[in-house]
Parts: sequence; C-alpha cells; structure tokens
Amino acid sequence: MALRSIGVFCRVQTRLWSHWVFRCPHLHGISERMSDAISFPKGDWPVIEPGWVWLCGAGPGDPGLLTLHALNALRQADVVIYDALVQDKILDWAPQAELIYAGKRGGRPSAKQRDISLRLVDLAREGKRVLRLKGGDPFVFGRGGEEAQTLVQHGVPIRIIPGISAGIGGLAYAGIPVTHRDVNQSVTFVTGHDQSGATPSSLNWAAIAQGSQVLVIYMGMKHAGQISDKLIDAGRDPQEPCAVVSSATTDNQRVLETTLSRMEADIADHGMEPPSILCIGRSD
Ligand code: SAH
Repeated sequence: MALRSIGVFCRVQTRLWSHWVFRCPHLHGISERMSDAISFPKGDWPVIEPGWVWLCGAGPGDPGLLTLHALNALRQADVVIYDALVQDKILDWAPQAELIYAGKRGGRPSAKQRDISLRLVDLAREGKRVLRLKGGDPFVFGRGGEEAQTLVQHGVPIRIIPGISAGIGGLAYAGIPVTHRDVNQSVTFVTGHDQSGATPSSLNWAAIAQGSQVLVIYMGMKHAGQISDKLIDAGRDPQEPCAVVSSATTDNQRVLETTLSRMEADIADHGMEPPSILCIGRSD
C-alpha cells in the first residue's frame, strides 16, 4: 500500500507517461501561456440559439480536459448553471455569463433535482442561451438523463455534449489504465449509493463481483466497507489491488493504493475525501 500525493513531483510514482506529464511543472507553464491564445479555427462551430439548453460535461476537473464543444458553449452562454464538481477555473471561461450554482458544496443546502430541471425550463423560456454544466460526463451518474427528459417533455430544445468521465479520465491521471490488454479486458462502472443514500439494493452485487475484472465505483466512499464485504462474499480476492483516487485531475489529486479488504480502513487512516473513484482489480 502506498499513498501518492500530488505536488511533490519527484516523489510521485511514475507508472505511466501520462502520470508524469500531469505533474510536470514545465508543461503546466506552457499550457497556461497557451490558454490566452486559444481561438477556434474557422468552421461550423455550433451556435447556442436563444431558448436552447445545452447539457454539457465539464470533465473531471482539469480545464484542459474540456472538449472544444464545451469551450465553445462556455463562450456563448447567457447563463451557466453548474454543479459542485465543476471547477471555478472552468467557469472563468464564461466571463460574460450569469453563473448559477446548482450543487452541494461548503455546507450550502442541496438543490432538489426537480427544481433544477424546472429552472432550466424557465431559463430557456425566458429566451436565454442556457449551458447546463456537469462534472465528468452528463449521462454518467450525473442525472443528465433526468434533466434531458424534463426538458424534452416541456418542449425545450436541447443539445448534449459528452465529457470525460472521472472513472476513465480521473483514473488515467492517476496512471491507471481502465483496461489493459494483458490483465484486464472488462470493466464495469457502478454507483456506490442509490437515491436514498444507501448501497444500491437493486444491484446484483454477486453478479457484479463475477462479471468483470475491474470495477470502477462512483460515489462509493461512504459505503466502501459494505461494498468490499459484498464483493469478498461473492468471491473476489480480499488481497485484490484497489486504488482510491480523490479529486482526480485537480491540484488536490491524491491516490491511495490498497487492497479490497483494507480499503475502508486505509481510506479512513489516510483521510481520503470525496469526490473519489474506487477502482478494484488489476489494471497493470
Ligand atoms: N458525471 C460524473 C460523475 C458524477 S457522480 C462523471 O462522469 O465523472 C459524482 C461522483 O463522481 C463522485 O462521488 C466521485 O465518485 C466521482 N468523481 C467525479 N469527479 C471526480 C474527481 N475529480 N475525482 C474523483 N472522483 C470524481
């Protein structure tokens, strides 16, 4: 087990080149200088029409992981309604827009999903160019599907812009390939809690345990112990390697390497905090 902490470049375990690149201060410097100069090449970049809502993924944190469509949307939007996982640095790309926070952070009360969806409808009906910005990919455990349904039901035109999901891009920044031809040809993405906040009882954990070599668990921190127990009961090896990646791709990224049976205790011992991805199984 090893705890790898960002910020100390020379101490970082360099499993893959992508890991090294992320931590290289020299390359960070270049990207900051480049950001001033970014302009879109001529082409048919889509325009947000008044009264439209674009449901857009912001990636796991690092602004460099935004798509060009997301950047194009940020530059045009009248209003950006964003989640807790969207980094402030990303919102800086939309200085002209009204910013509306629709997440749970810093002890502020959580907005209800239905209210957020209806707020989007109202903003569109006011003729605004609305950008709904969500961490990662909007359709991966992001309630983007619910928002899209509500908008369509209310006759609001929408466009979906996918984003890099934390369970793929976040793990990559930690040097963890989510598949690997030699050891891992299958991966399953699972949510660690359901609407009520409990470990999802509708999931067949035994089937999940047996179904693929690597399991990537979102929102799994609170129930990490229960999840480990269910997987071990279903036949996974207690010594199986696991990683916990917190605040992936941000300046606060931390990576804990542990085993399935130790995961819960190590999360507590090392003060790992959400948002975190749990990755169970051999990846290299
Ligand atoms: N739509 C998002 C997931 C939203 S669910 C996506 O595609 O990535 C919220 C969960 O995503 C968090 O509880 C955590 O498990 C994970 N997550 C999101 N961003 C993360 C990050 N930067 N680092 C680690 N985990 C992250």
